[in-house]
Amino acid sequence: MSLLQISEPNQSKNPHQHRYALGIDLGTTHSLVAVVRSGRANALPFGDSPLLPSVVYYGNKSSAPVVGNAALVYADDLKNTIISAKRFMGRAKSDIKFSHPYTLAGNDKTMPAFVTAQGEKSPVETSAHILKHLKNHAAAALPPDSIQGAVITVPAYFDDAQRTATKDAATAAGLTVLRLLNEPTAAAIAYGIDKNTAQGNYLVYDLGGGTFDVSLLRLSDGVFEVLATGGNSALGGDDIDRLIANWLIKTANLNPADIDHSEKSRLAKLAKTYKQALSEQDSVLIELNIANTPVSVSLDNATLSQIIEPVIRRTLQSCEQVMLDAKVDKSALNDIILVGGSTRMPVIRDAVEAHFGRVPLCSINPDEVVAIGASIAADQLINQSKDALLLLDVTPLSLGIETMGGLMEVIIPRNTPIPVTRRQVFTTHQDGQTGMIIQVVQGERDTVADCRRLARFELHGIPPMKAGLARVEVTYAIDANGQLTVSARETTTDIVSQIQVSPSYGLSEEQQEQLLQAGFIHAAEDKAARMLIETKVEAERELLALQSALTDFADLLSDDEHANLRHHMQATTDALTTDDKAVIDQAIKALKVHSDHFASVIMDKNVKDALAGTRTSDW
Ligand code: ADP
Ligand code: MG
Repeated sequence: MSLLQISEPNQSKNPHQHRYALGIDLGTTHSLVAVVRSGRANALPFGDSPLLPSVVYYGNKSSAPVVGNAALVYADDLKNTIISAKRFMGRAKSDIKFSHPYTLAGNDKTMPAFVTAQGEKSPVETSAHILKHLKNHAAAALPPDSIQGAVITVPAYFDDAQRTATKDAATAAGLTVLRLLNEPTAAAIAYGIDKNTAQGNYLVYDLGGGTFDVSLLRLSDGVFEVLATGGNSALGGDDIDRLIANWLIKTANLNPADIDHSEKSRLAKLAKTYKQALSEQDSVLIELNIANTPVSVSLDNATLSQIIEPVIRRTLQSCEQVMLDAKVDKSALNDIILVGGSTRMPVIRDAVEAHFGRVPLCSINPDEVVAIGASIAADQLINQSKDALLLLDVTPLSLGIETMGGLMEVIIPRNTPIPVTRRQVFTTHQDGQTGMIIQVVQGERDTVADCRRLARFELHGIPPMKAGLARVEVTYAIDANGQLTVSARETTTDIVSQIQVSPSYGLSEEQQEQLLQAGFIHAAEDKAARMLIETKVEAERELLALQSALTDFADLLSDDEHANLRHHMQATTDALTTDDKAVIDQAIKALKVHSDHFASVIMDKNVKDALAGTRTSDW
């Protein structure tokens, strides 16, 4: 099935020249570039490894920025050596809560820049330097001018701002972005699961250095779709290293609380080498000094698996959550795909196998699998191969609109496959209302205050009508790259207003998780809050309608009736200041008796007016 159609206005001048497209895994710690040549996808090596450290050194004023292994040499020059720009991409300064050694320039609301000896460098610029290095490396291995563009992978959790920042970096590096692709989707493409099976569910388990991502993909009728994503943005190989370091400290009969930070980080670095050795052999002999206490101990994989049990357990819990979200049972999984350097560990592979009762797919190098999949997708895109799959991603959080009383009305629920377009019709709240404020909201809670406002825009020029008569159709459209456009149209007049939602900064993964978790935790209390707000909105609407009727028809009521109605309107207004639904319900009920009477008086008058001047014989 070929659904990805890329038109190519700048076709190569020589139609017989082979065209290439790159697959780029722009990782937090490592980046890779892969390309399909003669039908085979390969990651291009830098020396003996295809992993390019995602590191840029800006310390030398008179030279160009230094990228990759050459930059690692300067790792001790903390402020000038940027080692995890990806974590800063598309984020505001106020979003950056994790510790880092950099001096950041900029104000709270914008993406910060690293202050270096070569001046201020934004995370986008740093990523662009890495991308340019990858591009030049690939260009050197391919015929001149044969690179048509690149597919760049991003974590499934990346929001709009983070994706936009990634695209901006590619453009700055002189790369044409064919597509941003979610990392798990790329891994699944690498395994070509579409070619082996017609149909099935696949779980992608990605345990890297600092993050754990899990995604559930479904393949059906040649269409590939991400059903659900989840994970933990602060769980990975680094935690494994720390657990081993703490185990070593305890083995030396020392208290981890007494060991200082620099000694702990030295131990964590050593722990990483023992851990990696245990991926090749079953035990390692460790001999070292911790705070002047000698330690000599043998560590084997069985002990390792006990030490890192908390990490394993948490990854498996995330897997369960994702399967719940996708409503896919363990028994309905066709395969599990392992991604990320940490899945080289036999203890991780064994734990996954034991949990799911099946051997996971790990024949493709888990470091390279994402870049390889991206290169296959890129190749399909430029060659418009018949094999090209429809690659669907999902929205990580629900998107909605703020309605009266500060309620969040979901328009696109989370985990909806994209691209997607959803419409909903809203109406006016007040008589004669000519404008409407549209608040675009993201999150899982019922009240806007507990979600996140993404954007706000206004629709003007609605013709004045009675409350509830105008019809404003609001459309949310997310394109294949995850970019959201919101538009509003008043259907009787065709007045349109629209906005492309690209906030200058996005949500951190932690914040996304918090919003998700909050939705689960607060479900019951949210329901009560929603019911209270709905009651209040109803009371306000009733008061407004009565106010408007009184302006026109007050003379139809006797003084007593008028006073009574006013009294109950005031009582309802007072009840609204409480947050007690029962009190408000009671006030509305009391008010209704009088307002119903008023309504029937008005109706009678309208009927009489309609009949005035006509004779019975005319009927
Ligand atoms: P990321 O995608 O987060 O940049 P990677 O997928 O490159 O991370 O994984 C990096 C992690 O993989 C590090 O914690 C590293 O220690 C771990 N790792 C790499 N090789 C091995 C190995 N042979 N055995 C165990 N862990 C490994
Ligand atoms: Mg990775």
